[in-house]
Order: sequence, then C-alpha cells, then structure tokens
Amino acid sequence: TARESELLARVPDGLYIGGVWEAGSRERIGVQDPATGRVIKRIANATPEDGIRALDAAAAAADGWAATAPRVRAEILRRAFDLLQERREDFALLMTLEMGKPLAEANGEVTYGGEFLRWFSEEAVRISGRYGQNPEGTGTMVVSQRPVGPCYLITPWNFPLAMATRKIAPALAAGCTVVVKPAELTPLTTLFFAQLLEDAGVPAGVVNVIPTSTARAVSEPIIADPRLRKLSFTGSTPVGRTLLAQAGQNVLRTSMELGGNAPFVVFEDADLDKAVEGAMLAKFRNIGQACTAANRFIVHESVADEFARRVTEKVQALRLGRGTDDGVTIGPLIDDRAVASMTALVEDAVARGARVLTGGTAPEGDGYFFEPTVVVDVQPGSDILREEIFGPVLAISTFSTEDEAVAAANGTEYGLVGYVFTRDLARGQRMIDRVDTGMMGLNTGLVSNAAAPFGGVKQSGLGREGGLEGIHEYLSTKYTLIPA
Ligand code: ADP
Repeated sequence: TARESELLARVPDGLYIGGVWEAGSRERIGVQDPATGRVIKRIANATPEDGIRALDAAAAAADGWAATAPRVRAEILRRAFDLLQERREDFALLMTLEMGKPLAEANGEVTYGGEFLRWFSEEAVRISGRYGQNPEGTGTMVVSQRPVGPCYLITPWNFPLAMATRKIAPALAAGCTVVVKPAELTPLTTLFFAQLLEDAGVPAGVVNVIPTSTARAVSEPIIADPRLRKLSFTGSTPVGRTLLAQAGQNVLRTSMELGGNAPFVVFEDADLDKAVEGAMLAKFRNIGQACTAANRFIVHESVADEFARRVTEKVQALRLGRGTDDGVTIGPLIDDRAVASMTALVEDAVARGARVLTGGTAPEGDGYFFEPTVVVDVQPGSDILREEIFGPVLAISTFSTEDEAVAAANGTEYGLVGYVFTRDLARGQRMIDRVDTGMMGLNTGLVSNAAAPFGGVKQSGLGREGGLEGIHEYLSTKYTLIPA
C-alpha cells in the first residue's frame, strides 16, 4: 500500500557508523515480508572491515560517553522513549512488515520495547556503590561501579525492537558505547531506531549499527578485538555456545539470552478458563516465536481432555493472515525453514502416537504460513518435547502426580521460564521452588516486564536483562582501599 511504501522509503538503508549513515555502493541485503515472500527493501550489507570501523567509532566515543553526566544520559533515553511513543504507528507497521506479527502485537512490542528506555532512563541516575570501614578498622573500603566499556550487541529477529532496546538502553544508561548487529532477517527496525536515537540526541559513535548477511565473519574480528569489553547476545543456544567460546579468548563479559523449552503445567485444581487463556498467550503470542513460548503442555490426566477441547476451540477461532489485515491474529512464520521445521515436528509426534486435533499443515499460497495446531497424546521421546518449537504448535502430554509433573518440567537442558496453573497456593510455592528456571508464571501465561529480571538458568543462558539487575550487566565493580 501507499502507506507501507511511504514508511519503507523513510527507513535508512545504510550502515550507521560514528554518526554517519553509509550506504555507498556496497552489496545489499534484501529484506522480505514473510507474509508474501517479497523483498520490501534493500539495505547495505556490512563487511568485516565495516564491523571493525564500527568498533573504532564505539571505542573513540567511549570515554566521552562514560564521562557524560548520568542525568544527561537519562534524559536522552527518556527523549527516546517519548519519540518512540510519537512514532509508535510507524514502528508497529515496520515490525509487521519485516517480521510478520499482527499489528496489534507489534503495537504491544512498541509498548514493551519502549519501557526499557523509560526504565533505564530512571536507572541511569541510580548507579551507586558502598562506602565503609574495613573489619580491621584500619581503612575505608570504597566500592564503585564503572561502565564496562565498548559492547557488541547481537539481536534476533523475533522481537526486532524490544531485543534492541533491552540491550541498548541499559548499556547507554551505564555509560557504555555499543555496536549493534541486528538479525539479517529484520534489520529495518533497528536502523529506524538508530535514527530515532540520533534524533533523541545520542552523540555520534555511541550507537553504531551494522546489519550483515555474514554474521559470523563480521562478528569474529569484533569479538577478538581487545578494545571490546562485553558481548551481549540473544538467540539460539548453539550460536550462544559458539559465541561464548569466542568470548573466552579475551575473557569478555557476556550476557546470553538463549533458547527455552518452557513447561506449562496444568494441575487438576486449576481454573481451566485461566489456564486456557494463559495457554493461548504463552503459545500463540508472536506466532509462537518467543524463547518464553510454552513448549510443553503438561496437563493432569483428569483435566487433559477438557483442556484440549477448550484450547482447540480457541485455536480454531484464530485467524491466519498478513499481520496488516484486520482481524488477523496469527501471522506468518519468519521463513520457509521455520515452516519445514513445524511440519517435521508434527510428523514426528504423530509417527510416535500423537493425534492432531486441529491444524497440522502449511496452507497453499504465498508467504511462510503454518496453521495453528494442537496435538495431544504426545509421547516421551518425541522431538517436539526436546526441541524449541518456535511456532504455533501446542503439544499436550499428561501426568498423574506432582512429582511426575516436576520431573517432566525439568527434563530439558533449558531453564528459561515455567508456567504453572493451580488454585493451591502451597502447591504453587512448591512448584516455584522445584521447577528449575530463571522465571515463573503462576496462573499467568506472560511474565515479561522491563522492571523484572529476564533470563534463564541451565543452557538458557547467563545474566539478566531488565529490572534492577539489567544495568549491572554493563557495569563493573571497582573496589578501592584507603588506609586510615
Ligand atoms: P535464530 O534461530 O533466532 O535465527 P540465531 O541464534 O541463529 O537465532 O540468530 C540470532 C542472531 O545471531 C542473529 O543476529 C544472527 O545473525 C546472529 N548469529 C548467528 N550465527 C552467528 C555467529 N556465528 N556469530 C555471530 N552472530 C551470529
């Protein structure tokens, strides 16, 4: 449409390095609309040399930004928050165009992503330390917090705005400069956001953006460069392992937000209406493409049929389509690989004895669509229980005792989030203690909040984003002894 073309024309198509937009004659990345498979914009593709120049810029700006008054850093972030509200419609539409999520959800992401700017604008002026006598009484111990230095931020495609603000805002609040490498599938939102940061008054070199189709080749030299002090990554666990190994060479600080395989446990005493509502949110938000998505529905055998019946009714009422169309509640998956992966997971589950209650296939036509799906009687050993589904497939298995539910919930190398539905508070407390995850939702299917520490245990990652914890990922502690 004319509105879409007009918006896309306003999105920068260059790299953003040292405050300069560089397009030039370099090779281009074609960004697709996953609802149609058509290329909607071509942008500059960063080379490894560009990556190092971006780090040059971040390193050159580092001292100046660290010395900028916290209040000034805070107010720039607050201005960015305000500008984002003004440009809300543009950001929402842009995310729908390059990523596929329905407009209402894209709007929700503008709200969620924006909150990191507001939250960390508030935190920037509250970085503090400790001061006190040493136990021997022979001196004063001073503990202060310093920015870690230049950071490299690698973001995924599923939340093009929020995954960027969740890293950029605390880094800037802490006084760090950054190089951002957005996912090659959804770089437009990050470029548009860099323009917003420039408008908000972020000085040249403090934020640099280098979209590239060769993530590894561009990232390796940056990570190996001794000027880099911190690597923050959100993405899959296999890539996280590779990056951790690379970061080990220079003993870099790292934050890793990796995969999840969230259990969604429904006890026999649960409020089933609430559980079904929570399930729809935890499973189908973002077309199932969230690391917090409920992956394994573990439902007490006495309510499993009823839960499956009610959830299937809701799933059949979802509307699949291009995220810009009225009434659409489920958009396309990100690419054809994702569609093939859904098909394979459902086929494997069925081959091992599961039944498909609704959906289960990819519709004919353009775009990377997969029907929202419910499968029941999923048997142990099925791929769908082990792998992160990352799509609109809701898989139900059953349990009989609480111990069984705990064992099933913990039977994964991941530990990001768990969801538990029960009316019994004591049981709820036990589950919170026993389920081995970084986050829990008790009778809710959505936990993310800028004011909360987001992150996992086990192979779901290291570190926390958001909350009081978030800014500490970008600060290092310095202790000084002053003898009396
Ligand atoms: P997803 O499955 O969500 O695409 P990935 O982990 O593959 O997750 O990608 C997340 C981000 O990591 C993207 O920005 C991608 O370009 C980047 N990436 C993937 N492989 C590498 C690598 N070897 N080195 C650096 N970045 C990488």
